[in-house]
Amino acid sequence: MSARNEPASVPASTPLLDVRDLKMHYPGAGGWFKPRRKVIQAVDGVSFSVAKGETLALVGESGCGKTTTGKSVLRLIQPTSGSVRLEGEEILALTPEQMRSRRRDMQIIFQDPYASLNPRMTAGDIVGEPLQNFPGSGGRSRQDEIAWLFGKVGLRPEAMKKFPHEFSGGQRQRLGIARALALRPKLIVCDEPVSALDVSVQAQVINLLMDLQQEMGIAYLFVAHDLAVVRHISHRVAVMYLGRIVEIADRDTLFSRPLHPYTEILLSAVPVPDPHKPAQRKLLQGDPPSPANPPSGCRFHTRCPLAQPVCREKQPALADRATGSATGQHWVACHFR
Ligand code: SF4
Repeated sequence: MSARNEPASVPASTPLLDVRDLKMHYPGAGGWFKPRRKVIQAVDGVSFSVAKGETLALVGESGCGKTTTGKSVLRLIQPTSGSVRLEGEEILALTPEQMRSRRRDMQIIFQDPYASLNPRMTAGDIVGEPLQNFPGSGGRSRQDEIAWLFGKVGLRPEAMKKFPHEFSGGQRQRLGIARALALRPKLIVCDEPVSALDVSVQAQVINLLMDLQQEMGIAYLFVAHDLAVVRHISHRVAVMYLGRIVEIADRDTLFSRPLHPYTEILLSAVPVPDPHKPAQRKLLQGDPPSPANPPSGCRFHTRCPLAQPVCREKQPALADRATGSATGQHWVACHFR
């Protein structure tokens, strides 16, 4: 990932997005009314906030609940319980009509740009669709607005007449970004937005997202598993394991002084671009446990190299262990860190 630019600093302020104790539990096989039903705890008590113009990355293994968290925040799926406040307004209490109007402030960019674009619509109609659903957005005519959005994401206006299959993967993701920008959202959930792209194109799309953030003040909830990408784009990073956040800190602190054993193992897999520094890769033992039957106490204890008997019995609270981090906060859920 080319380090062309750094994410702009974010002034401390009232959070744009404030998520408290968010839970998303699904009925397992057999349904709710079977006597031995299992409950899949995809997200289990997640809390975090995102400031205006900030990028918070949610990272972790696949199945850890990061994508479910992003979709729950947007109410693309209805969470089981918790609170999601955007500018102080409780999103989970809105009626469908109120939610429809709030959606203009909260958009999403999907992982697979091709699957998320209607193959029968022209690129111009795809990008302009939100403007049709919310007439009166922006000060220009719809056509001028679409042309402006194409320019913002580095696409030529002539491309408006093309269909999705006529674009490369990177160009298709630019279309997805233009569509997400159409209503001038305050928050965009980026769900693995570059993981389906060639490495050579990833940096272009990430730099585009960063430029747009600086210009328009958008906040990103950036769901990703590629830590090199996360390191480039994020202001803060939250690490998830089996439905819970186990560590949150500003990016530089988390990458230079991780505290949670799971974070240490994840970071040890990030390649070091220095031939004189030997790689010190730590291996994660075993498979992740099932969210339908999570381990007692600390959920990481079945794979943790530091586990003690207390870890099996008592769930560690997420507590601030500030150790001189830039933001003054470094939250970790571990009995021994
Ligand atoms: Fe490991 Fe125990 Fe800390 Fe969990 S609480 S991360 S099992 S040492």
